[in-house]
Amino acid sequence: MINVEIDPRSGFCGGVIRAIDKAERYLENQPRLHSLGEMVHNEAELERLGAKGLISLRHEDMERLSPGEALLIRAHGEPPATYRKAAELGLDIIDCTCPVVLRLQESILSAYRQLDGKGTIVIFGKIGHAEVLGLVGQVGGDAVVVENTAQLKEHFEKGEIQAPVELFSQTTMNPEEYEDICNYLTSKGIALNVHNTICRQVAERHRMLADFAKGHDVIVFVSGSLSSNGRVLFELCRSANPRTYMVGSVRDIDGKWFKPSDSVGVCGATSTPKWLLEEVARHISTIS
Ligand code: SF4
Repeated sequence: MINVEIDPRSGFCGGVIRAIDKAERYLENQPRLHSLGEMVHNEAELERLGAKGLISLRHEDMERLSPGEALLIRAHGEPPATYRKAAELGLDIIDCTCPVVLRLQESILSAYRQLDGKGTIVIFGKIGHAEVLGLVGQVGGDAVVVENTAQLKEHFEKGEIQAPVELFSQTTMNPEEYEDICNYLTSKGIALNVHNTICRQVAERHRMLADFAKGHDVIVFVSGSLSSNGRVLFELCRSANPRTYMVGSVRDIDGKWFKPSDSVGVCGATSTPKWLLEEVARHISTIS
């Protein structure tokens, strides 16, 4: 029989648990709730919440809501322009911005004010990601966003990065890649202030996940296809264990991946619900 273990550190992070909890409590007494953007990058969890009345709303559709209607801001946070628009429309905001993201937003704004037009705010993050849009919005778009060292080099060589640099990271980025970004700027002798803004829960997961992946014959990584944290952690598992497979649900599992004597590890992203990890683990344990 296949031996299956769920990574005890996988499952929703604190920020996502808090946001979902608030939404579910609201929906106990109300038939529906609109969330600005998808509440969590996980299709199965969205389906579960959708059945309770949660509806994802695009920014361009905010006008469709009537004054007094509730609008949930998810854990990723939003730029100030969104709050202004919601106020103009008379919407009732349920703010679920993760406190860690909120601190990061405040810290970018404060660094920007101190720079007073002289240096550059650099953000290591995924271009176009909701959290990054919220961060860039704090400084009216006056920041350079890079996804890797190659992009940073390009900006540097074009003269778009002026000293001093205030360096930040999106909360869910890879700590090792963040270090590469820091090293590049240090090697250029640029005055640099590095802010340690990768979420502790994410950094901890990165450290432990490689060991978990190495400790099993096969890894089944459960994640929604849109989760950027999911892709980063999946790659981390795959580099530690080549027999790593990504699935969105039990439907994607292929019995041919396993041998009867295998020990299988099941893990996931910060947006993967625990119930889904358990469902996947149960399914694998029935494969003979
Ligand atoms: S990963 Fe960390 S910062 Fe991001 S929502 Fe979760 S707890 Fe908050």
